[in-house]
Amino acid sequence: MKKALVCGAGGFIGGHLVSRLKSEGYWVRGVDLKEHEFGNNESDEFVLGDLRDPQMAKKMVEGMDEVYQLAADMGGAGYIFTGDNDAHVMHNSALCNLNVLDASLHAGVKKIFYSSSACMYPEYNQLDPDNPKCAEDSAYPAMPDSEYGWEKLFSERLYLTYNRNHGIDVRVARFHNIFGPQGTWEGGREKAPAALCRKVSETPDGGHIEVWGDGLQTRSFLYIDECVEGVRRLMESDFLGPVNIGSEEMISINDFAKMIIDISGKNISIKNIEGPEGVRGRNSDNELISKKLEWKPSQPLREGMEKTFHWIEAQRKAKLQEA
Ligand code: NAD
Repeated sequence: MKKALVCGAGGFIGGHLVSRLKSEGYWVRGVDLKEHEFGNNESDEFVLGDLRDPQMAKKMVEGMDEVYQLAADMGGAGYIFTGDNDAHVMHNSALCNLNVLDASLHAGVKKIFYSSSACMYPEYNQLDPDNPKCAEDSAYPAMPDSEYGWEKLFSERLYLTYNRNHGIDVRVARFHNIFGPQGTWEGGREKAPAALCRKVSETPDGGHIEVWGDGLQTRSFLYIDECVEGVRRLMESDFLGPVNIGSEEMISINDFAKMIIDISGKNISIKNIEGPEGVRGRNSDNELISKKLEWKPSQPLREGMEKTFHWIEAQRKAKLQEA
């Protein structure tokens, strides 16, 4: 039986990845600073631990065939783009990566996965909301628009150097806006899909929701099941990456909000206000993943958003009843 460690197993993507690995017959150890707040933890062994501590990282990777390094100090635009958390984001995430990778090498782990982000792409290629450029080879000259993106870029390079100089097998993916049930939907670290679902769910018929920026900025969003599928396919392939794991269904933020309002069945209007918004346009470019993995995400955005909206609405109502 293969043994895998999921770092960040108390988080959104980590939690789903644990379930996926279990369904494939893996024995899974999970580690995180916190328990999963929004979902079940199905790991065989779950450790509350801090991966900034090299001893903890050493203990966690012991006996593992594969390691999935998803632990990071992260959040949505309200956390990443205000500038208030930059030192924490860089220090905490870099330490997790340095420790887990080095410990994995010394413990003889066979393969390690690293979750980078589309936030590492240069801002100058993402100024036109209708025509952003995020092909993997457009990463340099580097100019991410956030310290979160700079740390991701540093860590991608770290994993690739460990492969080059020490021979450890690595896989690097650049996730583009992953969403779905069991993600953070309140508390300040939630990302746009969950934040908009929560706002629409809270707003009575005839009311309005606030949307950050002019709403003409564009993004694409990928449903969690397809993200996890991409991670597993990459791990099983012989391609190191970096490779985009994202959707190519680009949408403006106002149209995205309208889609969620439509799903809710309510009559709600949109009020655009000033707020942190990141780059003007971003979309996944799936040419490389199609070529290397002979697969790319294909589920329509609306399908995933219907599941996500109804999950967040149920969570919110359950919480109100508890109070
Ligand atoms: P998340 O915040 O839900 O999960 C990250 C987990 O890491 C959290 O549970 C957190 O407690 C844990 N963690 C942080 N510091 C730790 C430490 N020192 N020791 C142990 N655990 C620690 O985020 P997510 O959405 O599940 O993202 C997972 C990974 O994917 C992250 O590396 C993130 O940067 C990357 N990513 C996510 C997205 C997205 O849209 N969700 C997009 C691009 C990249």
